[in-house]
Amino acid sequence: MRLVFLGAPGVGKGTQAELVASKFHQPRISTGDILREAVRNKTALGLEAKACMDQGKLVSDAVVVGIVKEKLAEPVCAAGFLLDGFPRTVPQAEELSKMLDSKGQRLDRVINVLVSREDIVRRLSGRRSCAKCQAVFHVDFARPQREGVCDRCGGELIQRSDDRRETVEARLVVYENQTAPLIDYYRRKGLLSELDGSGSVEVVHKRMVELLAAQGLS
Ligand code: AMP
Repeated sequence: MRLVFLGAPGVGKGTQAELVASKFHQPRISTGDILREAVRNKTALGLEAKACMDQGKLVSDAVVVGIVKEKLAEPVCAAGFLLDGFPRTVPQAEELSKMLDSKGQRLDRVINVLVSREDIVRRLSGRRSCAKCQAVFHVDFARPQREGVCDRCGGELIQRSDDRRETVEARLVVYENQTAPLIDYYRRKGLLSELDGSGSVEVVHKRMVELLAAQGLS
């Protein structure tokens, strides 16, 4: 199973990708998670990426393509992978296609998760993640048992710096200008499926599993 999850920030593609990854035992590659870890560890990559991320801008194509190339070369990705948050520009998509061609592989499906703009802002502004294990919660839709405390590891729940309202607006503009063109790009290749991302995590997951089954991916 080789899938790409596409969608504006806040549509829940990370959550859905994680559920699909664990159901089908496939590795999930989130460029956002990899970059945030580099920022936390203050590596050279993290220091380079931080300024862009804090402003809601994209990190350079060369940097993220390098990250994905390294990941896809790992043996664990040989039988399949789910890409979450990559590609985000047409040049990234072209690089991905070259990487796969060179291994004689191809994408099975690109799933575009759709949610209204109003819901996106609500989902992002209420999102909280654990500072220790990065588990994701929401102040309304996925509340932790104890406010501000991670159910999984007891860590402190914090708001991602790029989930502040001003940055959210910037990220949505970047999405419209740089990432949304990928919808047509993959549609023209006959790879695109659209998934209604409205409703609870469970409802969307059920739709996702049905969509994959309809594509012969189960
Ligand atoms: P995400 O967690 O996917 O929303 O990503 C958070 C931030 O990481 C984005 O706003 C970008 O600054 C950066 N980022 C993640 N993936 C990419 C990518 N494929 N291309 C460029 N920047 C990225």
